Amino acid sequence: LGVEIKTNSVIDLNQGIEDLLKQEYGAVLVAIGAHKGKKLGIPGADLDGVLVGTSFMRDVNLGKDVKLGKKVIVIGGGNVAMDCARSARRLGAAEVGVSCLECCDDMPADITEVDQAREEGIEIYDSRTFTKIVSNDGKVAGVGCLEITGCTFDDDGGPHFDVVNDEEHTLEADTVIFAIGQVPEVSDSRIVKVSKMGTIDADSETLMLETNGVFVAGDCFSGVASIIDAIAGGQKSASKIHRYLQGDVLRVIPTSEIAATEIKVEIPSETEKKERQ
Ligand SMILES: Cc1cc2nc3c(=O)[nH]c(=O)nc-3n(C[C@H](O)[C@H](O)[C@H](O)COP(=O)(O)OP(=O)(O)OC[C@H]3O[C@@H](n4cnc5c(N)ncnc54)[C@H](O)[C@@H]3O)c2cc1C
Repeated sequence: LGVEIKTNSVIDLNQGIEDLLKQEYGAVLVAIGAHKGKKLGIPGADLDGVLVGTSFMRDVNLGKDVKLGKKVIVIGGGNVAMDCARSARRLGAAEVGVSCLECCDDMPADITEVDQAREEGIEIYDSRTFTKIVSNDGKVAGVGCLEITGCTFDDDGGPHFDVVNDEEHTLEADTVIFAIGQVPEVSDSRIVKVSKMGTIDADSETLMLETNGVFVAGDCFSGVASIIDAIAGGQKSASKIHRYLQGDVLRVIPTSEIAATEIKVEIPSETEKKERQ
């Protein structure tokens, strides 16, 4: 197709995009993924030995010499948490646990991932909220937890926990890995505006930013999803870019889809039936 691929090139999301538009490029697609992992804002979260899932997985996959303690607790209940826990186990951690807010039946991770993690000897400590990273002489010693029976979120996304009682307990660990979600590595600029969710703001129909000719696709727009969703998003954005470059309108009202079985045609009884022409 004549696509030229330039690797190891970081594009500045403000000036860099403007420069591309000033060169021979008619449009720019921003598809930078969501790689910035989060930590809970609890005491001790900045200690050495407290890692973020995405950075940990990147280092593992780049073959870096990742140092882990003997006991690892992964905080989070999704597929990324399972990847981190299973990778920690394969790197030689003797005891690996995953701890999350949800009860086992409601964990966002695929059930097969949870089952396979258990087969690798990983313990699941479900229905907990986290109060602090416990330390001993400045070193991580565990995660302070409270048992909960449920959790609700207010309109601003703030969590409210139904705590069983005030008795805090510690899950012992010398390494803690946060796997509680990711956002794109972006900040508000002339070109890129960041939504309340931390994703890149764009028109949901045209997929274009406020700056003409700049489009988005994938996790950086939708939030963390899956490879197949990113491919579908890429196709949608490509068709919008195609229209843009042709000078076509981007807002196309979709024709409503009607199943063939829903179409009723009344044929007058006197109509003569003929062979298909
Ligand atoms: C640990 C982990 C495990 C996962 N496992 C699965 C799985 O098993 N199955 C599944 O379907 N999905 C999985 N996902 C989700 C899946 O990886 C994403 O949904 C998908 O890759 C998103 O595609 P994307 O094209 O939006 O972004 P990415 O695939 O994240 O690609 C973004 C690209 O943009 C580059 N980039 C970022 N910033 C810049 C910049 N400023 N300049 C230039 N380049 C830049 C990055 O280097 C990267 O190459 C997983 C995610 C994680 C974190």
